[in-house]
Amino acid sequence: MSSSLMSNYGRIDITFERGEGPYLYTAEGERYLDFVSGIGVTSLGHSHPALIAAVNEQAEKLWHVSNLYNITPQEELADRLCATSFADRALFCNSGAEAVEACLKLARIYHDTTGNPDRWKVVTFRNAFHGRTLATIAAAGQPKHLKGFEPEVRGFEHVDFGDLDGARAAIDVETAAILVEPVQGEGGIHIASNGFMQGLRALCDEHGILLILDEVQCGMGRTGTMWGYEESGITPDIMAVAKALGGGFPIGACLATEQVSAAFSPGTHGSTFGGNPLATAVANAVMEEMQAPGFLEHVEKMGALLMQRIEGMLGNKRVFESVRGKGLMIGVQCVPPALEVMAELRKQGLLTVIAEGNALRLLPPLNIGEAEIDEACAAFERAIEGLET
Ligand SMILES: *Cc1c(COP(=O)(O)O)cnc(C)c1O
Repeated sequence: MSSSLMSNYGRIDITFERGEGPYLYTAEGERYLDFVSGIGVTSLGHSHPALIAAVNEQAEKLWHVSNLYNITPQEELADRLCATSFADRALFCNSGAEAVEACLKLARIYHDTTGNPDRWKVVTFRNAFHGRTLATIAAAGQPKHLKGFEPEVRGFEHVDFGDLDGARAAIDVETAAILVEPVQGEGGIHIASNGFMQGLRALCDEHGILLILDEVQCGMGRTGTMWGYEESGITPDIMAVAKALGGGFPIGACLATEQVSAAFSPGTHGSTFGGNPLATAVANAVMEEMQAPGFLEHVEKMGALLMQRIEGMLGNKRVFESVRGKGLMIGVQCVPPALEVMAELRKQGLLTVIAEGNALRLLPPLNIGEAEIDEACAAFERAIEGLET
């Protein structure tokens, strides 16, 4: 590990040299099955031929021009995102936090331009994660992320996830929007019920405020539908997307309805790199793969299989207490410290990541096959044995 790096990450001391499909390899040739996917980013696995072709083709043509000019792959990507979602318009940036920031700014300027400049506050939920900028750490309100960075950005009211009455009580004449993850990722894989989502939509309509969804982690096919909100039957006004959108190339997006997005008039918001030709060319290839017939059905099927297999391993519950999830976004509640379980699984060749509340998080590539699920479950069995003795 390099000593010239800042020490803001608590890194695991492994260096991967290359990746292929669901596997990562060290320089020494050790192979790991990757159920982290760079935290829900490499959803098509590593070194996907269509993504390699897309990046190479674009790299030979044009890397960057700035949003001073038209960008053809960016327009194509906006069309694709709008065609598959509630949205009429897209704006591009480079990360999840930036996408959420754009959503928050859009909510404020929407009310400002529609005669309600007093509406600026946002109702958010405890245990959420929205990124690491000053505004997004304040939005999530996690004490451990805010500590040392005070004073925190004002204007966020925090309510328990799932508490509709609490959300109602938090809304006042200054409220601009409600911001929620349909499935909390970092928070430990907590799924918003359809009733909660529908209730939030109704509250927003009743009060003339906007519903913002943070689908940075749960969007892009992760839950078995293209978007996490689909099953609830509601649609948001604004949505943040990132992580898997670029399949490993950094890109984020803020999506919105025609009416709301109109508030971003020329000069109101922007980003140097946002939606540049390289990033959007790769994201178009990601979208194309995910929109192929049967792709999302496969995610649902593999998710159900993996959940069922893990349920079968709960046994006497000395290692895994319970399992929950949607599609291939799965949380396993651990009995011993989740960090120890993660380390034991790593010894068995399976990479996982932890989440809040002593949970282990599984985010395998969405194109994973049954053979790899078998392999992961064998690693689980060996780890359970190791941890129980
Ligand atoms: C990862 C994540 C973010 C932040 O994304 P970055 O690209 O790290 O800025 C925001 N919201 C959710 C739900 C996330 O999972």
